[in-house]
This record gives sequence, structure tokens and C-alpha cells, in this order.
Amino acid sequence: MNLFDLVQAQQIHAAEVSAERAGNKVIGVEGRLGELESRFNRLALVTHSLWDLLKDRHGYTGEELRDWVTLTDLKDGKLDGRLRQTTAPLNCHKCNRVISRAFARCMYCDEPAAEGDIFDRVH
Ligand SMILES: [Zn+2]
Repeated sequence: MNLFDLVQAQQIHAAEVSAERAGNKVIGVEGRLGELESRFNRLALVTHSLWDLLKDRHGYTGEELRDWVTLTDLKDGKLDGRLRQTTAPLNCHKCNRVISRAFARCMYCDEPAAEGDIFDRVH
């Protein structure tokens, strides 16, 4: 193997390592995207169910809902189309470590998270 072949082999190896790292990042992003899609779908389900309940059982109108959304948006002082929740973290009931409300299972021991607030897994 001459010097040119050696340099080329090193470059090929470096490119393979780089491609593998990029592939691992893509897998991580795909997992995160799937998690976000799951949260979005749960949020849409809960939101539509709530709206149907309010319309059908209590007679609220779309205009009242829009006004209420505006009031909720303004709770943090900014009308920016965002909800800023400040909820305390949960403790896993098995290992007692702090876990995110956003996940269905403890990331340390894989214990299912206790059902809490209905919106816990959507934010
Ligand atoms: Zn745990």
C-alpha cells in the first residue's frame, strides 16, 4: 500500500465514521419526532373531546371559545399564541427519581408514570 492509498483509506474511514454518526442523529431525531407526534395527537384528542363536551352539554359557541383562548394566552402577559405551563416535576413512584410529566414511563426504571392531570402528556 503506497502513501496515496493510505491517505485515501483514512479519508474513507473518516467518511464512514461521519456517516454513521449522521445516521445515529437521524435515528434520534426520528424518535423525538415520533414522540412529538404522539403528544400532538393526544393533545388534539383531548382538545376536541373537551370542545365537544362544552358545545353539546353546555351550549358554548365558537366565539366564546376564541375569547377564552385569548384570555388563556394572556395569562403569562403576552398574546403570542403559546401556553406557558409551569408544572412541578413528578417523582417516579417506584424509584422516586424526578421524571418528566411529558413521558408515559420513567426514563430510569421504565415504570409507567402514574396518571395525573389529563394534559400531563401533551406539554
Ligand atoms: Zn423510576
